[in-house]
Amino acid sequence: MSEEYPVLVEVESDVYLVRGANRSRFPQANCVLIDDDVLTLIDAGADLQNIKQALSKLGHSVTDIDRIVLSHFHIDHKGYAEIIRREADCEVLCHRLGVEATEKFAGLVKCYGHIRGPYYEAWLRFLKTWAPYSLEDYVVTGSYADGQRIDCGKNYIVAIHAPGHTHDHTCFGINGTDIVYLVDIDLTKFGPWYGNVVSDITRFRQAVEKIIELRPRIGLSSHLVEPVTDGLTERLRAFGNAFDERERRIIENIQDGRDTIDQLAHVPIVYPRLPHKVYLMFERIMVEKHVDQLVQQGRLARENGRLVVVE
Ligand SMILES: [Zn+2]
Repeated sequence: MSEEYPVLVEVESDVYLVRGANRSRFPQANCVLIDDDVLTLIDAGADLQNIKQALSKLGHSVTDIDRIVLSHFHIDHKGYAEIIRREADCEVLCHRLGVEATEKFAGLVKCYGHIRGPYYEAWLRFLKTWAPYSLEDYVVTGSYADGQRIDCGKNYIVAIHAPGHTHDHTCFGINGTDIVYLVDIDLTKFGPWYGNVVSDITRFRQAVEKIIELRPRIGLSSHLVEPVTDGLTERLRAFGNAFDERERRIIENIQDGRDTIDQLAHVPIVYPRLPHKVYLMFERIMVEKHVDQLVQQGRLARENGRLVVVE
């Protein structure tokens, strides 16, 4: 790893960002390390070499890890947790709603919601190539709930349940809420992702609001390589505005005659492009969620299998 891309970034005393490979883009992600009496790793989706290198810079090795806390069941977050657990014999905690999907691949598939769907085989091939460890079962040794304080020694973290991205998605306040690990409220240009059956647009909007109300000074994203300090509130707002922006695009496209879910998904609305057919599956789920909501709100109607904008 080159010096231009150090794997370890100090956020404050004892608190570090461990950067993923490939600038922490999916299926890589950052982790947060609390170097304290209870050596705690939050998420385990950075490349194992990066995690090892980061630990070594602090005079530790993988076997020193006492506890892994997982933010949600996604493969780029649970990542190497099971490999590390076997080496370190550490605790592994996840949100109580995420236990099944974290432990069992079948549980994860259920939460993704494309069992026997047309893209399932392609998705499996993608995982076998890019994240083979995610196909194994994991051991979870305990769970946490919203608001729970997890002590590490001098430092502590607080679980901030922020569902929407997934049902179990949890951010973490570090020694209060001045520093918040934002996880997949990730402030990337891509914006919010909600392509699972357990994803929920309304709850995701509320989760972003919940974080804004905490007024954090520093935000740590799972997929940005630098901690965010400048204009954090504005960036959170901009991230949340993507929902409205996507609704607007759906309505415009329907007015232009692309008036089925299939046509809208092929635009595409959420992804900038669809480089792999697996993305179409996620795009379709996200478009469907928007359309269902717009129909419920009376802004769209379904007529003879077509979508119509209600004026
Ligand atoms: Zn995720």
